[in-house]
Amino acid sequence: MDFGDKHIIHMDQDAFFVSVEIKKNSKLAGLPVIIGGTSDRGVVASCSYEARKFGIHSAMPSRMAKQLCPHAIFVKGSMDEYSYYSHQITELLHEKVPLLEKASIDEHYIDMTGMDKFFGCMKFAHELRHSVMDQIGLPISFGLSINKTVSKMATNECKPDGELQIQKLEVQTFLNPLSIKKIPGLGDATFLKLSEMGVRKIHTLTQIPQELMFKILGQNGLSLWQKANGIDNSPVVPYREQKSIGKQTTFESDSMDIAGIKIILTDMITNLAFELRQKQKLTACITVTIRYANFETVTQQAKIPYTSLDSTLIAKAKDLFDKVYSKRMLLRLVGVKLSHLVSGSEQIDLYGPSEKIYNLYQSMDKMRSRYGIDAVKLATVLPNKGDTKSKKASFMNKNS
Ligand SMILES: [Mg+2]
Repeated sequence: MDFGDKHIIHMDQDAFFVSVEIKKNSKLAGLPVIIGGTSDRGVVASCSYEARKFGIHSAMPSRMAKQLCPHAIFVKGSMDEYSYYSHQITELLHEKVPLLEKASIDEHYIDMTGMDKFFGCMKFAHELRHSVMDQIGLPISFGLSINKTVSKMATNECKPDGELQIQKLEVQTFLNPLSIKKIPGLGDATFLKLSEMGVRKIHTLTQIPQELMFKILGQNGLSLWQKANGIDNSPVVPYREQKSIGKQTTFESDSMDIAGIKIILTDMITNLAFELRQKQKLTACITVTIRYANFETVTQQAKIPYTSLDSTLIAKAKDLFDKVYSKRMLLRLVGVKLSHLVSGSEQIDLYGPSEKIYNLYQSMDKMRSRYGIDAVKLATVLPNKGDTKSKKASFMNKNS
C-alpha cells in the first residue's frame, strides 16, 4: 500500500484565545496573559506563549499560575467571542478549499490531494494562511505533509507564526528525533509506560515489533506504532458531514405535562453533555424537536458558543422548547440534537467562575464513567414522582 500520495494541510491558530484578546486590546501583546480563572480559586483555560515560559499551562489552578508568574495578566475570556472568530475562520477556509474538516475550535484539516497538479500546495497553503491573518486578523500556523498526523506534528513543530512542509521522503527523518510525547493522542499513562521501557524518542518506538506494541497497549499500541512510522489513513471528514449526537423520547401516552417534559429534556441533555465531555467534544448548535399528537413535527435550532456544559445547554433547550411549542396540543415526542461538534474541552464559562465547580464536574464525570450515567446528577435534574412516562431512543447521525 502507498500511504504517501496525499497532501494534507493542518492549520492551527496560535494561542487562539489569547490572540483574540490581543486583537481587542493590543497592549496585551508580548505579555504573559492568562485566560480563565480571574479569582484565586479559578483554573487556567489558556495562556500566551510568554506565560508558557513560566511553566503555566491550561487546567492549572490560577493560584499556582500566580505563584509561577506574579506579574501575569488574567483575562476572564469569552467563549462567545472565541466561537464567533472560530466560525469566521471556518467560513473563510470553506470558501477557498475543496475538502475541509473542522477538528477543533481553532484547527482545520484540508485535503489537497488531486489539487496539487493545479496549485503548488505549499504556495496555496501559504496564501491561505495569509488570508486568515489579513482578513480575520489572527495569527495562524500550518503543516503540510502526507497525512493528518504528520501534518499536525509539523504544525506543532513550527508554531507560532510558522509554516512547515514535510515531504514524503523526509517524514521518518522528521519524526525520529522527536519525543514520543509529540504523537497526537499519546496520553500521560501511555507515556509513563513507554518511558519505563526506555522508549522516549519516536525512533526507538519504530524499532519495537508491532506485535509487542499490541501486547503492551492493545489497539492503541498499534495505532501509535503506525503514527511513529508516519502511517495514518484517517480521512479528512468534510465539515458538513461531521457528526451530531442526539436523543429523543416518545411518551407512553400523549402528554401536555410541560414541566414533566422539560425534566425529560433536561435529563437527555445531561446524558448528551456527559457524552460530549467523555469524547472531549464541544457543540456549537442545538436543535429541539417536538411531535404533536397528530404527528406534526416541528423543530427550533440555535447557534451557541462552543460548550459541553449541561447548564448552558439546558437553559438554551428550554428556551427553544418554549419557542417551538406554540399550539396547546398534546405532545407525543421530544428530541434534542447537538451538532457542529469539534474536538476540545475548553470551558471558559467553567474555568472562569471557580476551581470548585471545575472539580465538581470532573468528579461527577468520573463517577458516571465508573458507575453508569444515572449514578450522579445535579439536583435540578432529579425527576419528581409521577413523571411523564416515556421510552427513550438515542441516535448518532452522520449527515447533519
Ligand atoms: Mg491552536
